[in-house]
This record gives sequence, structure tokens and C-alpha cells, in this order.
Amino acid sequence: MKKNLWTKLITTGMLLVLANVAIHAVGEPEAQAKKSLHSHSHGAAEVNISIEGTTVEVEIRAPNLDILGFENTPSGELEHNTVKQLKAQLEKDFEPILFPKESQCKLMGSKVEFDFPDDKGHDHSDFEMELNYTCLELKKVKTVETVLFKRFPTLRSAKVQIINGDKQSSDKINPKKVNFKLNDI
Ligand SMILES: [Zn+2]
Repeated sequence: MKKNLWTKLITTGMLLVLANVAIHAVGEPEAQAKKSLHSHSHGAAEVNISIEGTTVEVEIRAPNLDILGFENTPSGELEHNTVKQLKAQLEKDFEPILFPKESQCKLMGSKVEFDFPDDKGHDHSDFEMELNYTCLELKKVKTVETVLFKRFPTLRSAKVQIINGDKQSSDKINPKKVNFKLNDI
């Protein structure tokens, strides 16, 4: 399920890049797409929401530096414990998006991954969180709130992408604008 959503977003992203190139006749689409997939900016997160009927999937991606405090592959007891404890803590009770009560959203599962490089040549590493909900009355909800910036204060912005059936919309959020539209697409 996770791969499907990323694939959808990546495909859409590549199409946009291709469209851009077609219009402006500059650059190499593959190089641009690769660059955007393999780099990140510290302080910047991505929020992807996929809605299919009553099933809602929320994915968060952010630099490990902002979530964990470091990006190197953990070494030593302290770093290993930090990773283990934070994973358990976040999977237990952290919901980055608050769905209002009237949405009747029920959290079905939550999964956290810290993606560390296998070799030491990489400088950056990513955090990913995936949450699955069943929402009976999502149509009653216009906007939702994120507590991502409250929980991880070094995050300064996030790009929001929403796929609702065959429609797609995007938004930007930051510590001063924590609400975004969910259903007006
Ligand atoms: Zn980094």
C-alpha cells in the first residue's frame, strides 16, 4: 500500500517534470526527478494523504535530523536506544494529523521507519511514518490540523499532497499555518 502511494506521487511528479520540460524545453527529466527523490532539506517534511472511500492513509516523510536528532547510521548503545524508544513511542500514540471527531476516523495501524544508509558515504537519512485510518464520515470534514511542528520543533515547513480517488491537490503548512483543507478538491 505504501509503495503504491509513493509510486502514484512519483509518477505524478515525473509527469509534471515532463510537462515542464515539454513547455520550456529545458533540462533532463530523469536527472531532475532523481534529484528531487534523493535529497532533502533539513526542517522540511512531506505529508501525503491518500483517500479511497473510507480508507485513509497518511504518510509523513522528514529528515531524521529533525525527528531523531541525527542522521548517521546508529552506532553505540545510546543511539540504538534512541531509535528503538522513539519508534515505540511514536507507533504507540503519535498521530501527526488530527481528524475531528465528526469524521469518525479510527486509527487501524501505525508504522515508523528510520531509513539509514548502508554505507558511510551518505550524509542524509529519512524518517517515514505511515498511519492507516478507517473514516466513516470524512465528507463532513473540511480541514484537519497537524501537530507535527509541535512535536518536532525544528521542522519549519511541510508540503502536503492529497490524493482523493482520481483527484489530487497540494498545500503547504508551517508552524503558523497548521490547518489544511482535506475535502475541497
Ligand atoms: Zn539530512
